[in-house]
Amino acid sequence: MTYQSVNPNTGKLLKSYEHLSAAQLEKALATADACFRTWRHTTYAERAKIIDKAAALLHAHVDDFAKLATLDMGKRIDEARGEVKFSADILAYYAKHAEAFLAPTKLHPQHGQAHMESSPFGVLFCVEPWNFPYYQLARIAGPHLMAGNTVVVKHAGCVPQCAIAFEKLLRDAGAPAGAYTNLLISHEQAEQLIDDPRIKGVALTGSVAAGRSIAARAGTNLKKTSMELGGSDAFIVLDDADLDKVVPWAVWGRMYNGGQTCCAAKRFIVLESIADAFLARFKTALQALKPGDPMDEKTTHGPLSTEAALLQLLAQVDAAVKGGATLLLGGKRIDRPGSFMQTTILADIAPGNPAFRDEFFGPVVSFYRVKDEAAAIALANDSDFGLGGSVWTKDEARGKRVASQVDTGMMFVNNIDWSDAELPFGGIKNSGYGRELGNMGIQEFVNKKLVRTGHIAAPV
Ligand code: NAP
Repeated sequence: MTYQSVNPNTGKLLKSYEHLSAAQLEKALATADACFRTWRHTTYAERAKIIDKAAALLHAHVDDFAKLATLDMGKRIDEARGEVKFSADILAYYAKHAEAFLAPTKLHPQHGQAHMESSPFGVLFCVEPWNFPYYQLARIAGPHLMAGNTVVVKHAGCVPQCAIAFEKLLRDAGAPAGAYTNLLISHEQAEQLIDDPRIKGVALTGSVAAGRSIAARAGTNLKKTSMELGGSDAFIVLDDADLDKVVPWAVWGRMYNGGQTCCAAKRFIVLESIADAFLARFKTALQALKPGDPMDEKTTHGPLSTEAALLQLLAQVDAAVKGGATLLLGGKRIDRPGSFMQTTILADIAPGNPAFRDEFFGPVVSFYRVKDEAAAIALANDSDFGLGGSVWTKDEARGKRVASQVDTGMMFVNNIDWSDAELPFGGIKNSGYGRELGNMGIQEFVNKKLVRTGHIAAPV
């Protein structure tokens, strides 16, 4: 398959690009490898100047970048603008902090002196998803370029315009050829790249299936990987929760980015005494969303990224209902052009139902009622995923206690304000391993080298 930009609002093909030839791919990799030899010796200040400039250019052209995301994958325009600004913030954050994060740290051995120092690995291969077409790129470009690595990036097939725009951004900011390279390549070419000795590390954000395949290939080559995969986050509503505050967050947590967020609220687990009130209000709020052109500011319900994504989600809902789930709302495509799915609520999802384990990547709520807090925690943990989750209660101490007992990489109490350049992002179980963002994100692909000094007599 080639790279295609298809407007999900209309289904119209906007642009299409061929895969790189073998010779073009070889040239791109050789350039990235050659660039690493000089880039690694530039100072933090020199790198920061370029990364800061890229951040400034994003801020200066928010609308241009945002529109491309809306055209490529249907993100509502105001959300697209927010993503562009946040991507700029991530770049600026690493430009400012990389040197301190990677500064040598002293150790205290019994004899002599020792320290740990950090050095870049080399060329990294990053495979990225379409759902945050710039933020995902900023999460790898900011830290890894500031650390002195160079990156070659395979973006998702449906967001080629964003992929090309981000590469141009870095060149416009002054990055040398080969520092950041966008590769329009097939899965087979991606595998060849992982095998190539010039690639020193592999980072993937994507589905569990892609994670298994790419991590296995990298493992055969003994290459370090980080895996940011799917999620099925619990949204736990305790019996003392303030529904005036909770319901708007429930809508946002499920519907932001058209429901296509790895750490979206997907399983709504509500204590029995408050379940009916929550469900009635949540349903009304979801029904009030207005489907429309994501380029229109008034639209509150955009399309899914592609027709294929819509068909997959519809098939998942059908399978859930065949498996015994009750459909409380929606379940069908919206009768209009484009890849629009009705807001949907599924209930009575028993453990044997595929919906109990699967990730729903779109506006589909899985609703569960439970008898008490312990049952809520047990259900939240009965998942193959372990990305994030949230707890809603008027009692913050209680919220923290519950959060500590849920097995995920991230928990939020009375908010699901998922991301901040400073906060490490990532999960456990099938949600992957490793972290992006924050200090931890820049440490993933650097050599941590011990240097010990001192005149110590040899043992006899
Ligand atoms: P996907 O199909 O796995 O695609 C993600 C990227 O991997 C794309 O660039 C895709 O390329 C590539 N890819 C897939 N299989 C590959 C293979 N065998 N070899 C080489 N490249 C391969 O994921 P998606 O469905 O588009 O994205 C949504 C998933 O990503 C969800 O599960 C979501 O939860 C997860 N996600 C996780 C995070 C996180 O931080 N944890 C963030 C965002 C999204 P093509 O497009 O060319 O197939």
